Amino acid sequence: MKQKIIIVSHCLLNVASKVVMYEEKDMEAEEDLRKRFIKKAVDNGIQIIQMSCPEFTLYGPKRWGHVSEQFDNIFFRNHCKKILIPIINQILEYKNNPDRFEILGIVGIDGSPSCGVDYTCTGKSWYGCITGRDDKVMDIVHDVSLCKSEGILIQVLRESLMECGLTDIPITSLFAEEPNKCLDLVDE
Ligand code: SF4
Repeated sequence: MKQKIIIVSHCLLNVASKVVMYEEKDMEAEEDLRKRFIKKAVDNGIQIIQMSCPEFTLYGPKRWGHVSEQFDNIFFRNHCKKILIPIINQILEYKNNPDRFEILGIVGIDGSPSCGVDYTCTGKSWYGCITGRDDKVMDIVHDVSLCKSEGILIQVLRESLMECGLTDIPITSLFAEEPNKCLDLVDE
């Protein structure tokens, strides 16, 4: 029987890499789905490859939450490309042995400016020094929202997969409001 494999965003297995979050209700819903997803994958004998976290490996654990516009630059994209090389190489090697392995897909994290697949967060005025903007800070915070678009790591991942001719790998995401997107991927 073939070994089934999924590739996941780093924090799907290691939430210590995430930006510190304060919205407990959102965190609980995501955490609940994360546990269900991992349990289902493990129970079904599916192997898990963990991508690197592009934000932790650039900014560490004390970073602020970002929006995708901040990461939409050549430096962040190059960083994503670099940390994806070992992942792409592993996918290629498993694909080179199709009698033994099956790549089921890739799972990102909706809402993330990096790993969002169907949704990322956007905020056009989310930049600069906070001091001196006292009266506008809350306007800027409220300007941040979810939008239907991919995060930057996922964009670079798609490009890297295309360059290698890997066009048939489904990419989906963990999103508490649409749990079946990720759970269906690890069905038996
Ligand atoms: S950048 Fe991706 S892997 Fe890192 S914490 Fe955000 S969603 Fe998770």
